[in-house]
Amino acid sequence: MNDSVYGIDLGTTYSAIARIGEHGAAEVIANFEGEQTTPSVVYFESPSNAIVGTEAKRVAISDPENACLLIKRHIGTEYPQEFQGTTYTPEAISGLILKELVTAANNESSSEVSKVVITVPAYFGVREREATRQAGQIAGLEVVGIVTEPVAAALSISARSEGNETIMVYDLGGGTFDTTIMKIGDGSVEVVAVDGNRLLGGADWDAALVNLIAERFIAEAGLGDDDPRYDEEFMLDLQLGAEELKKTLSRRDSASMRPTYDGRRASIEITRADFEEATQHLLAQTIEISERTLATATAKDANITVDRVLLVGGSSRMPAVKAALKDKLGWDAQDTDFDLAVAKGAAAYGQAAVNEVLSTGDEDTPVEVAADAAPLAFIPGSSATLSIANVLSRGVGVQLARDEADETGYIHFFASANEKIPYTAEPLHAGTVVANQAELDIKMYEQGGERESDVVADNSLLKNAELPLPSGLPAGAPVDITVEISAEGLVTMLVTDVTSGASVELEAQVSVLDEEQVAQETSKVAMLTLRS
Ligand code: AMP
Repeated sequence: MNDSVYGIDLGTTYSAIARIGEHGAAEVIANFEGEQTTPSVVYFESPSNAIVGTEAKRVAISDPENACLLIKRHIGTEYPQEFQGTTYTPEAISGLILKELVTAANNESSSEVSKVVITVPAYFGVREREATRQAGQIAGLEVVGIVTEPVAAALSISARSEGNETIMVYDLGGGTFDTTIMKIGDGSVEVVAVDGNRLLGGADWDAALVNLIAERFIAEAGLGDDDPRYDEEFMLDLQLGAEELKKTLSRRDSASMRPTYDGRRASIEITRADFEEATQHLLAQTIEISERTLATATAKDANITVDRVLLVGGSSRMPAVKAALKDKLGWDAQDTDFDLAVAKGAAAYGQAAVNEVLSTGDEDTPVEVAADAAPLAFIPGSSATLSIANVLSRGVGVQLARDEADETGYIHFFASANEKIPYTAEPLHAGTVVANQAELDIKMYEQGGERESDVVADNSLLKNAELPLPSGLPAGAPVDITVEISAEGLVTMLVTDVTSGASVELEAQVSVLDEEQVAQETSKVAMLTLRS
């Protein structure tokens, strides 16, 4: 075992892996095909064999039944997928991608590294973060940390000693969009506000372009009512072609492709202006979310001004992004190395974690380093330690009843999204609902949608527990609830029956898989050979 660690950007459409090299700089490690990013696509070739990456993406066209794409959109949810007679969880499929990345990186650098840091979008809740950790575990890896993509992106830029500055990360990836405003100082990153949409990304631009091309193709090839969009193979082909065309349009003013359907061909030319018009509603959503993030940050600190805007994620390469940020918000956004920045920052975070110079605000004692310790080459500034302060990505609450007749109840929130963590909530003094109540049924919830809602169905259950009560309590007998949230976003809720002093503690270390399922998924993944 050595003390190296990989940083992995586990993306919806592409993933990348990096480490801190000999000279203290983060470097991306190429996969078996020599590429710096690997498509997050798994193709199940046979019951005992799977392929991950570009080749998988290629063969997915002719055999979509055995291919799995965009699995990150389902991580942490019940979404069993059957391939070649075996059912896999999203965590197992993500585990296969992680395994491929690490195997290729170990091969490339002749090492045996198994410690990893994996990145997640800032607005992932507890469930998805834990599911991501389990994906690592299923791949046989030791996950030393989960870090959010924008924090990783911030760590990857050498903000070297321009003093303190406030930066905004605009991250438009393949399947997700997120925005983060943070203050960066010497060896420190403090997140102020996060926002995003987990269902918005380059794939949506692709879909809009696919539609545009298909409509033109139907007209040009004279297909009439014969809509090729119902043909799976035609669509997969078109999707791949459209993605390439989209990338070309980031460089050129127009590009063309020649779809084929039922023996008919036509050359379709798309201009950048056509493409931008067909996708302007998508771009507008990212601007609206950016404005909302700024409003959240300003509500916390009225004097905040964004000094730098960093573009992260492959889709931020589209020229319309920079233009809209300038036009609508007056921001001169700055390029990063787009789809590699996150993996590099994750490597920096991981190295600080294994070197034990990382502080996230949870420790009772601050990180100690020798007085003459050299600055960490891989983090901004000239500090020998790295400190990261984060915010809660989603609100956390408990289900309460208004009165005896209130069967559905409502959610009382202890902490809202964007609350600084670690966090101790104000204790809640509640009461039993009826006289002689036998037990308390406690349900801890996390905000489900983009906005906080007290409607139970809009939230997702994190954990539940029961606290038996002594007999003879009157209605309204006091019950105290306290909540603590760790720097990692883990919630601990303590519910106490004040009369008897009995209490129950709920810890939201939740995930869809229990230990037995993790073991099962691990063995399924271990039984598959990976051929890249
Ligand atoms: P990421 O998940 O950050 O690797 O982003 C991948 C997404 O970026 C995919 O949707 C790609 O199609 C998109 N992408 C990559 N390069 C470009 C480009 N030059 N122009 C537009 N989109 C791109």
